[in-house]
Amino acid sequence: MSAEPDDRHRYDARVMSDGQRAGTPDLGRTDLGLLIELLSVGVVRLDAWRRIRLANTAAHTFLDRSPGTLIGMTAVAAFLDARLEQLLDVSDRAGSATDEVRIAGSPFTLVARARRGSDGGTWMVLEDVSELRRLQQIRAEFIDNLSHELRTPLTTVSLLAETLGRDAETAGDAIPARMRDRIEKVEVETGHLVQMVDELLDLSRIESGTRLVLVDTVDLGRVAIESTERLRLFAERQEVTLEVSVPDVVTPVRGDADRLGQVLVNLLHNAVKFSPDHGQVLVAVRPEDGRVVTSVTDHGVGIPRSDQARIFERFYKVDRARVRGAAGGTGLGLAIVRHIIEQHGGTVWVESQEGRGSTFSFAIPVAATAGADLAAEPTTD
Ligand code: ADP
Repeated sequence: MSAEPDDRHRYDARVMSDGQRAGTPDLGRTDLGLLIELLSVGVVRLDAWRRIRLANTAAHTFLDRSPGTLIGMTAVAAFLDARLEQLLDVSDRAGSATDEVRIAGSPFTLVARARRGSDGGTWMVLEDVSELRRLQQIRAEFIDNLSHELRTPLTTVSLLAETLGRDAETAGDAIPARMRDRIEKVEVETGHLVQMVDELLDLSRIESGTRLVLVDTVDLGRVAIESTERLRLFAERQEVTLEVSVPDVVTPVRGDADRLGQVLVNLLHNAVKFSPDHGQVLVAVRPEDGRVVTSVTDHGVGIPRSDQARIFERFYKVDRARVRGAAGGTGLGLAIVRHIIEQHGGTVWVESQEGRGSTFSFAIPVAATAGADLAAEPTTD
């Protein structure tokens, strides 16, 4: 976007002021100007033509420019990242936007927050998240390597335990009941370990920064029906009935069909697991304000209010003792769910009452496109 000649002329006149040279054109000598200089986050003010009118020292450092040289440059020339233009477009339309930008040739990874100003310009704040991203990368690689190393021996142990269990069953009374019981426990626990390692690998792959490719046109009604079918046998074994309520036509969303199926399977699995015998679980899909909302409702144990905000964290479990049957899951399922939904530009939430049951819902914008994630805050958990 370029300025009209007249405007540029007016603009240049302002660039030449002392304050402009100092890098804080309008506010340089005011307290607000001093405060902006003091901040360790970058602060940038763009005019309606997306030219930089104000940039503090931190912004110059992040963008690898010598003091004052950003003033007068267009935002695109300063950042050299196409995502920034998308960010400003979203901010102009929606009032604000957030995205992560990488500056070519600079070591910084920045989270840029843009907010439309009162005069058609934009305020931008740049936060340095390089160290955070580096540590997240190290953690993800560590978990990934560890899970890979553990997977093979664990799978072998699990298969051996299974074989041992079958042998013990065949041997009948030749093997004491207590020993059969212990073999069964080894089988169950190694099964859990294998599941945990699989889920850890899955989570680290989802978290590793590679964004999902949202290219499928996904009919969430269909995904709901297919996922329910996948869980039907498991539900029958637990004497829980599964029901699906889907309108005839569901507006498609753009996304990754397999990952959205994984979300529903995780939510359904929990709903069955935490339901009483003869309980009912309902999956419903409905359109709502330009979004498609999918929910899974059970009438099980429910979740205490104090735990509701934390259950989407990795490894968080409310209370092991509440799970039917042997020891519960890994505490990773809902963390995976949240990551997948956020990568679709959507949101996930829970409504629950202890002793009455829970409804887990997620909403995906109908017109979710590659840029949909711009409006969402990046996940740091
Ligand atoms: P897990 O593998 O332990 O089920 P999740 O991340 O899927 O891990 O769930 C985290 C915790 O949230 C569970 O351990 C459980 O305490 C609680 N939870 C999840 N879904 C439900 C539900 N439908 N009803 C009651 N509690 C639930």
